[in-house]
Amino acid sequence: MSTFQAPKGTYDLLPPNSATYLAVREAISAPLKNSGYGYVETPGFENVELFARGVGESTDIVTKEMYAFETKGGDQLALRPEGTASVLRAALEANLHKAGNLPVKLWYSGSYYRYERPQKGRYRHFSQVGAEAIGAEDPALDAELIILADQAYRSLGLRNFRILLNSLGDKECRPVYRAALQEFLRGLDLDEETLRRAEINPLRVLDDKRADVQKQLTGAPSMPDYLCDACTAYHKEVRELLDAAGVVYEDDAKLVRGLDYYTRTTFEFVHDGLGSQSAVGGGGRYDGLSEMIGGPSLPSVGWALGVDRTVLALEAEGVDLELPATTSVFAVPLGEEARRVLFGKVTELRKAGIATDFSYGGKGLKGAMKNANRSGARFTLVAGERDLADGVVQLKDMESGEQGPVALDAVLETLKAKLG
Ligand code: ATP
Ligand code: MG
Repeated sequence: MSTFQAPKGTYDLLPPNSATYLAVREAISAPLKNSGYGYVETPGFENVELFARGVGESTDIVTKEMYAFETKGGDQLALRPEGTASVLRAALEANLHKAGNLPVKLWYSGSYYRYERPQKGRYRHFSQVGAEAIGAEDPALDAELIILADQAYRSLGLRNFRILLNSLGDKECRPVYRAALQEFLRGLDLDEETLRRAEINPLRVLDDKRADVQKQLTGAPSMPDYLCDACTAYHKEVRELLDAAGVVYEDDAKLVRGLDYYTRTTFEFVHDGLGSQSAVGGGGRYDGLSEMIGGPSLPSVGWALGVDRTVLALEAEGVDLELPATTSVFAVPLGEEARRVLFGKVTELRKAGIATDFSYGGKGLKGAMKNANRSGARFTLVAGERDLADGVVQLKDMESGEQGPVALDAVLETLKAKLG
């Protein structure tokens, strides 16, 4: 223990569990890489205004959860709370949308920061893998993203998740619904903060987790009843494409998201084994966001999946990812001469692509074999003075326990053959 601990609401990824995080990121990004999405990486912080305008002044993310600060030079920055605004900013800045190849399809993976009340599944530093398809209005694109997220979760072996689907309308029908909902909310017995929220962003009230609020919301105007013809047709098409792909979803007229920029298709992936932090990922269409941050009209759609909660979901379902052992061969030298010779062998094996580790620190046989066991290596190479005099090393199969001498210059070929 040192004097220091990880800051509140954060945790470290350490071996062996950290391998699961890498595997989850890999599994989520694989379907994207296979579907025309290119990798994008943006800074961990941005001009605070990007999020204030992009995510929305009235959202919890901006009002309560943002790590905003002034730099020594006087710049107003914020650690990124989400990925979409940054990715869109980057695409616009580089004029990717003008290269004549719309939609611009991008994926990302990284750390995000929100000053939240820490609890299981809710951290101040967490990680997401996300995807954005910028500059096209096409129901097939919305469907594509939902299908790819579904595929990602299934490839990990997750089964107990559900897809909630809704349409939030567009600039024609959404304001009409908003007004109707506001009218309804004004008549309810709500606390002051919630009433204020109803004035600024009434749709957010639908997302209130408190039971007494939810009870009062029975009979609230429902978005599907207010969708204009264009939005209804668009949503029908998205649903039909999902049906055709065999992706099961649930219509959820109350589904809204924590960000203000969503329009039309909105969806969330929830996992039933996670208690109240049940959302493992979410996304939707954000046709107005580009204009909100000073760009041209670029209808877009995207999602972000939470890596931390996906790992918790795997635990909840008892899914053990089949992670290959990181080390295939472990070398144990007995004595100074053996140390030099075996270290040379280790380098040779590594160059040939065989994952190899070495017993460091001049340990005795017993301690070194313990390390070999812990490493998960399938084979160990042990050599002492006498072996070297005979020009061999002892090769041990850690699974079968079989052991025998192999000529020094045949070690690489022998291991290659045995490891397939
Ligand atoms: P919630 O309703 O749980 O607060 P959110 O709507 O704020 O989620 P998004 O902004 O849509 O979440 O982020 C997408 C995903 O990122 C979430 O579904 C979740 O898996 C993950 N996520 C968001 N905030 C956190 C956090 N504080 N800690 C861990 N994961 C998070
Ligand atoms: Mg949140």
